Amino acid sequence: MILVLDNKISQPQKNTILNRLSDEQCITREIMDAGRNVIGIIGKTRTSLEAFKQMEGVVDAVPIKTAYKLASREFKSEDTRVKIGNVVVGGDRIVIVAGPCAVESHDQAMTIAREVKKYGAVLFRGGAYKPRSSPYSFQGLEEEGLKILADVREKTGLGVVTEMTSVSQADLMLQYVDVVQIGARNMQNFELLKCVGRMDIPVVLKRGLAATIEEWLMSAEYIMAGGNSNVILCERGIRTFEPYTRNTLDLSAIPVLKKLTHLPIIIDPSHATGIREKVSPMARAAVAAGADALMIEVHNNPDQALSDGPQSLYPEQFGQLTRDIYVIAPVVGKQLDFDYLKKSELINNLAAEDSKTAAFIGEYGAYSHKASLGYFGEEITPVPMKTFKDIFHAVQSGNCQYGVIPLENSLSGSIHENFDLLQEYNLKIIGEITIRVQHALIAHGGVSKTDIKRILAPPPAFSQCKNYLDQYPDIELVPVTATSSAVRQVKDSEDKYAAAIGSAMAASIFEMTILEESIEDNPRNYTRFAIIAKEVKGHKKVDKTSIIFSTGNKPGALFEVMKVFSEYQINLVKLESRPMLGKPWEYMFYADLEADIESPELAPVMERLQEKSENLRILGRY
Ligand code: PEP
Ligand code: MN
Repeated sequence: MILVLDNKISQPQKNTILNRLSDEQCITREIMDAGRNVIGIIGKTRTSLEAFKQMEGVVDAVPIKTAYKLASREFKSEDTRVKIGNVVVGGDRIVIVAGPCAVESHDQAMTIAREVKKYGAVLFRGGAYKPRSSPYSFQGLEEEGLKILADVREKTGLGVVTEMTSVSQADLMLQYVDVVQIGARNMQNFELLKCVGRMDIPVVLKRGLAATIEEWLMSAEYIMAGGNSNVILCERGIRTFEPYTRNTLDLSAIPVLKKLTHLPIIIDPSHATGIREKVSPMARAAVAAGADALMIEVHNNPDQALSDGPQSLYPEQFGQLTRDIYVIAPVVGKQLDFDYLKKSELINNLAAEDSKTAAFIGEYGAYSHKASLGYFGEEITPVPMKTFKDIFHAVQSGNCQYGVIPLENSLSGSIHENFDLLQEYNLKIIGEITIRVQHALIAHGGVSKTDIKRILAPPPAFSQCKNYLDQYPDIELVPVTATSSAVRQVKDSEDKYAAAIGSAMAASIFEMTILEESIEDNPRNYTRFAIIAKEVKGHKKVDKTSIIFSTGNKPGALFEVMKVFSEYQINLVKLESRPMLGKPWEYMFYADLEADIESPELAPVMERLQEKSENLRILGRY
């Protein structure tokens, strides 16, 4: 059962509860979950549910109905995020684990690690102890393999994942690797599960060849009961009667698990299909189905691989796959971040006294809040601001390290105010993120759609939901500044006749009910945000540059600038004109270029642009 405690419970009151549970030989776990202080109790208690409810400091006592307790959503409603160095599995950013089936040599591991890192992997996999069906097959390099993995981490910065096949390897694992994997064949090796349960290291728990989801969760429970809550569940295909693939990838396990457990899910389409050409389609489907991470076998020379060559992708194929995942992830509210490790390093290098915050517009639950989490993960604290100018001001003054500002929406167009502020303030764009905007109609619990008399939202949200709203001409539309404020205002007003247009995230933050999902006219509703900062730390190779410039008021002046881009084959992905501040009828042009304009090869472009334009400024390279 779980005990929900009063947030103001005193330590002596808590001790009384914990002592009673310890007398009754129960295992207890205390966690904060969705702002609630919760004690999970495992084991049979003599004290009844009702008696617990009467104890001082206890708000509620709720039985956990499933056989697995610590792994269940009933125990912990919020998603678990497993931290591996700077990488977080679970949450908005898709984690890609890639590498060969087995570590075969130093050279092989290092070559593949460099390749997969280049294409977006943030963790490296490679077996050193290989559980093979045949005793005559390659069994792995054992400790030498682990040393190679440790060196891969040292040289590339990628965290390393490897399989542990025996309790006797525990110390070596802790010494050399970042994550241990329990292989499919060992999913019910209970001594091994208890052992990793005692270890302080994240565990990838593969699903057994013929294990039910419940059996799999019970194995996770073994690890968690031992004290290790950093468990990632890995679906890698199960045995069925179907011989066309090595196993059958059970993708429906993803939504099933998401309901039953708070643990993150990684999908291994390599072992699931066993066939190279089947790996990428299933990986794409896994992300669309809600996987938190992917584990992909990649080999630079699969024909010569000592194990699982036929299912290993060539590095270039892996690169194509990650590009596809980059496009698919935002559709399901996630991101693949090619800059993941660099960014985390940068953030971690910020001095302790730096604020490590990102200013965004609106309140918690705003799309800008989601953009901040998608871009930075949870390493940076998002700070709500009332106006766009406040964001620029906070970044300029150093009160916030970063700002997250929407620049354009695929349905409602540019957010002009931010282009003007980019002109006014001397800040840099250091990155960008595009997120899908899915609007929900949100109201108080128990309210039905027919009760609604007014809807609160910012005007762009009204225009994005026009077709939907046109069905209800009698409903009053009340403009407010942001979707998140709309949700909060409906909440605070306790108005049962009011609804707000906002994100599912806002509904959840404010504990409101969704009356209808996805009410935007066009599902291809995306907003692109820029991340702004005072300065750019470090000089990296980039794909994109944003500039602003003006031109003289003479015929063909803009054409002359465009000609420079054309001559150098530079793709212009955005061009926006804005009135110059304080100069009526004169314009600044804002342009995004698919090029690194500060690279030495493009030095002549900069010179030519300087000649042909005025007030040229590089807003950012990213
Ligand atoms: C592996 O990941 O290399 C492996 C052996 O996987 P599984 O345990 O899923 O067969
Ligand atoms: Mn393998």
